[in-house]
Amino acid sequence: MSASLTDGHGRTIRYLRLSVTDRCDLRCVYCMTDDTVFLPRHELLSFEELDRLSSAFVARGVDKIRITGGEPLLRKDILNLFRSLSRHVASGALRELTLTTNGSQLARFAPALVASGVRRINVSLDTLDPLRYAALTRHGDLAKTLAGISAAQAAGLKIKLNAVAMRGVTEHEIDDLIAFAHGRGMDLTLIETMPLGHLDVDRADQYLPLDELRRLIAQRWTLVDVDDRTGGPARYVRVGETGGRIGFIMPMSHSFCESCNRIRVSATGQLYTCLGEHGGTDLRQALRSSESDDSLDEAIDRAILRKPRGHDFEIRRHSEPALERPMSVLGG
Ligand code: SAM
Ligand code: SF4
Repeated sequence: MSASLTDGHGRTIRYLRLSVTDRCDLRCVYCMTDDTVFLPRHELLSFEELDRLSSAFVARGVDKIRITGGEPLLRKDILNLFRSLSRHVASGALRELTLTTNGSQLARFAPALVASGVRRINVSLDTLDPLRYAALTRHGDLAKTLAGISAAQAAGLKIKLNAVAMRGVTEHEIDDLIAFAHGRGMDLTLIETMPLGHLDVDRADQYLPLDELRRLIAQRWTLVDVDDRTGGPARYVRVGETGGRIGFIMPMSHSFCESCNRIRVSATGQLYTCLGEHGGTDLRQALRSSESDDSLDEAIDRAILRKPRGHDFEIRRHSEPALERPMSVLGG
């Protein structure tokens, strides 16, 4: 067995996105329905299993782990996981330990995250209007997320804001989001909505291609292409008036799969080597079948070799989602 993880297309896997829960305190309109049913808690990997699994990936060359969800900061023992994984940051094996959060719980967690070696985080924020925020998230309180962002910055965390582009929404929000993000030293990344999970609206009505949004932004701001490919899927521009950056993630209109170095594990231990993959590989079974990591390593190797070349998402009017699984299962 080779030490590093290389797939059948020659791509070396270095980035694990680990979902620790499918639960969330929000119900964003592009992510879930109001009556989304969550997994029974006993199906989730335990804290010890999450740590063992992460460590097995680190031993195979993964040097970046992003903790995600659902809302990862709602998981009861989440700080224990960060504290425990921080040993891989301290040893230099992990280049980055990070998380993606909606920010609602961030104010109370920020200092402890910093103490665990977290340096940069992503916070999801689609609007700065409190009423619109409540409508888009169905339950959310914008003030909590803004307080979370302030607390995280005060604790020394670098923040990137993520916003999902939505027709009829983002065209009106984008100027405020740019001014807010760049005014506070944060990059802003825009993401095209992906056809994952059933919604109670037609996703085709929500979908706003980023090419179109970029043209709109360019009418009001000076955009200069920059070659800051951070190894991720975003293409960046610098805004002349603010000096800050906007990233565009365009899974629908521009594929970026050829350089994909990431894999995802759900909170129940299913390994997905592509966001567009239907069935995962059951690592929970491999974890529980033996105290040695041999069968876990074999299951990981088999899955990585089958990593698809890419996804082929499409959004058509009145069509079924590409996958039944909402984004909250794998965390983006
Ligand atoms: N709850 C956390 C949050 O919102 O940041 C982490 C999990 S959330 C599923 C991760 C990211 O996926 C968020 O930035 C969210 O906006 C994005 N997302 C959710 N559903 C999406 C979809 N259908 N298409 C594109 N992005 C989506
Ligand atoms: Fe929750 Fe994140 Fe999905 Fe919004 S995008 S419902 S915050 S998991």
